[in-house]
Amino acid sequence: MGLAIGIDLGTSNSAAAVYRKGKIESIPVDGKKILPSVISYKDNQNVLVGNSAKSRLYIDPLNSIASSKRYMGDQGKIYSVYGKTITPVDAAREILSKIKIEAGRYLGEEITDAVITIPAYFTSEQREATRKAGELAGLNVLRLLPEPTAAAIAYGLDKERNQTIMVYDLGGGTFDVSILKVESNSFKVIAVDGDSLLGGDDFDDKIVQYLLNKINAVSGMRNGQEGSISLQRLKEAAEEAKKELSESDITDISIPDIFNTHLDEELSIDTFNKMIEPLLNRTIEKIQDVLRSADLTKRDISRVILVGGSSRMKAVQEIVTNEIKKPFIADNVDEIVAHGAAIMAANLSAPDIDSAPIPIEVEDVTAHSFGVQMLSNGTKYIEHLIRKNTKLPAMGSTIGFTIQPYQKAVNLQVFRTESMVPDQRDKLGQMVLPVRPQETPVALAAIFELDEDGILVLSSSELPENAPIINEYFETELVNLPMLRNMIDSRQIQIQSVEIDTNK
Ligand code: AMP
Repeated sequence: MGLAIGIDLGTSNSAAAVYRKGKIESIPVDGKKILPSVISYKDNQNVLVGNSAKSRLYIDPLNSIASSKRYMGDQGKIYSVYGKTITPVDAAREILSKIKIEAGRYLGEEITDAVITIPAYFTSEQREATRKAGELAGLNVLRLLPEPTAAAIAYGLDKERNQTIMVYDLGGGTFDVSILKVESNSFKVIAVDGDSLLGGDDFDDKIVQYLLNKINAVSGMRNGQEGSISLQRLKEAAEEAKKELSESDITDISIPDIFNTHLDEELSIDTFNKMIEPLLNRTIEKIQDVLRSADLTKRDISRVILVGGSSRMKAVQEIVTNEIKKPFIADNVDEIVAHGAAIMAANLSAPDIDSAPIPIEVEDVTAHSFGVQMLSNGTKYIEHLIRKNTKLPAMGSTIGFTIQPYQKAVNLQVFRTESMVPDQRDKLGQMVLPVRPQETPVALAAIFELDEDGILVLSSSELPENAPIINEYFETELVNLPMLRNMIDSRQIQIQSVEIDTNK
């Protein structure tokens, strides 16, 4: 295997790095260490990626796509550009292709192997979509590595051993908080929580709303292309103002000729902090949840690491200091995740002394619980087969029974939820399994497997009549997994289908 790179595919910006000759290097793309995760179509053939696309966001917003990572795995999200439909996976593919080409040029050899980072809170569909984007870009995705783990690897390798680290990762579109145990060279995630729809874009939107309210008071708004260009200018100014407020206590927002007016507004840090308080409170709730899941108190946390561009905000640093302890902030906060991914990539691709850093072990957990819908005494409920914060890879199974004589098929419905009450919004998909029609109930096994990347596979099988299951008809009970495995291995049962339809 040749060199393998680490890629941080971010909502706002992406970065790449490589570990070679005992050192980590950021890989420049278009001469810069950070590549804006923006694509823009000049016509229906030519697509620009990165800085040049970002500047076109301003002049041609309708044919430019930013923050598409927020919609990864969302089958309903489609962008329409010059009569072509573009999915979030297509957008990610363009960004990854650009990185692959530039990395090859910089390193002097074609790059095919990569570790790509993902928010720890990404669902299995979001992970699958990321892997697919990598493959479409011609990359062999060695691993999908959670961003907090990547950050901990990059920070942790040269630090003291045996620590419990909290990683607070607030990026452009997602928020993750994870707790890791670092012992010697092993990095074990023990609990994760987060919100895949909370990030810097939301802070910008608060400022945009504030400005729109001011503008509305003096002028009518315009729609169409002109309106969306104005809105884009407003967004850019809002983001600039937000960044300014990470350095100073007051900022001036001045935009000539916008929505029929001239905008000149002062925004103080106090006003801004008030606006974003509800958003930051959501991150505090998640901090408390993750401590509870890990069965720890704040006193057990040896170090808090802040990751993601939005963690530069003063209010973030203040709430983390109040809630846990004074956080550690790296100078190269934008590159740290890619650096961790590069160390992992080197370990996976060439675990020999010359090209790999010290060997590391990584353990991850699932951020969500998965279950099937069951029926007992006429009541529908969710039986969880894999629980949130279970170590990956994970496996879980159950036995169920047909509920009517001569029933021909069973509809297995898969849910991702923490609740026992089925809610159609949490349904991931279903699988219809044909069964032998008979008068007495037929037993079925359902098995969930989550791989190291957190991708879910559902298998199911009808069990033979002589299956050694002691159970009451119409009731369900967790079957012991080794027994089920034995039955599969000794071909007592045949798995009939392994597909879970995650499009629902
Ligand atoms: P990431 O996804 O980690 O690249 O983070 C990008 C987000 O960080 C965007 O929403 C940026 O507006 C935000 N960001 C970058 N620099 C700053 C800063 N100095 N202060 C506040 N937010 C920032």
